[in-house]
Amino acid sequence: MCPANVVSAEKQQPLETINLNQGDPTMFVEYWKKAGEKSSVVIPGWQNLSYYPNDNVDNICWFLEKEFSDEVKKLHEVVGNAITKDRYIVIGTGSTQLYQASLFALASNDDNNHDSSSKPMDVVSAVPYYSSYPAVTDFLKSGLYKWSGDAYKFDDKNEPYIEVVCSPNNPDGHTMKQVVNGFRGKLIHDLAYYWPQYTPITKPADHDIMLFTVSKSTGHAGTRLGWAIVKDEKLARKMTKFIELSTIGVSKDSQYRAATIMRAVTESAQSISLHLAGNFFEFGKKTMVGRWDRLRKVASENGAFSLPEYQKQYCNYFGEIREAHPGFAWLKCNLENVGDCDSLLEGKLKILVRGGKNFGMDYRKFVRVSLIDQEDKFQMLIDRLSTVSSSTKIKA
Ligand code: PMP
Repeated sequence: MCPANVVSAEKQQPLETINLNQGDPTMFVEYWKKAGEKSSVVIPGWQNLSYYPNDNVDNICWFLEKEFSDEVKKLHEVVGNAITKDRYIVIGTGSTQLYQASLFALASNDDNNHDSSSKPMDVVSAVPYYSSYPAVTDFLKSGLYKWSGDAYKFDDKNEPYIEVVCSPNNPDGHTMKQVVNGFRGKLIHDLAYYWPQYTPITKPADHDIMLFTVSKSTGHAGTRLGWAIVKDEKLARKMTKFIELSTIGVSKDSQYRAATIMRAVTESAQSISLHLAGNFFEFGKKTMVGRWDRLRKVASENGAFSLPEYQKQYCNYFGEIREAHPGFAWLKCNLENVGDCDSLLEGKLKILVRGGKNFGMDYRKFVRVSLIDQEDKFQMLIDRLSTVSSSTKIKA
């Protein structure tokens, strides 16, 4: 057995706690500060008072502003990460609301012969799955659906079920496909991280329900705006109904702000406007590559942690072969005498992280660490991880 491992904290000031538990996308502030006018929105007091959209276009999602949906389509076209032609766009207050709307629509859809008086539909996702899925699924104790855990362990009984495919996956960054492959399965594809700053864009995604969010694409989590690209009209209508009944639509102010932000991203990506900030995705990729390089260096130097490896793939957007640089590090703790990795990071290093059990893992050696926070916090993460070594002792 190795001796206990340490963080050499002697004669040092108490460490300030840093929070890298949430994937708070403040890394992008640096870019947007430079983007200036192009990304600013002024909304006069008389605008956006009505519940209804400003442009009066007849949409299944009746509260969708045309300006926003036009920008969504243009951005996907330029990036090449999703098909939008002949698809319905439904917006939500973050993709979190659209996840719930999708569950409602799929589980109450008459086509699946699911009698709503019968037992709730199983909702599964492959471990390690995004930690919010279980809580968001079961929060309202719906009679229509219920969380049933790991898709790998799901016993397909030839009954309708829902599988959530998160790709690239939160927390581990891997590209995912459905794992159950049951005849009566319905799929929700959560593609929050399918953007060139995080992963190679290999083809335009084309699934029944695809969820995206400005939180991870442009970094505007506080705008609370997500969109779903939906193939089936009936499902799009049901999702719209869910949002109508829960929040009577989605903030118009947010839609206009997000449209402006997305236009700035699209133009920067096409180099139409050479604004000071440059190509948004170049900025994102460069920052993520730099962070992963520094993180991998620390991990290989001290041997105390390991990180996932990602297959190199051709990225259509950047026109080059590259590997993924996910927004989270799925860190495995190699220290034999450390029972659980979150207590090492939180207790000794004072870095708040999300422990593996939140993602359905029994094995407590994994933690998820956000890599999309501000530079000073990321540097503190690197500095503190480098104080741990596989051959030194832990002191309380
Ligand atoms: N899906 C995944 C995989 C996420 O990581 C997140 C945000 N952490 C969401 C959905 C929710 O995004 P939003 O902020 O749009 O609700």
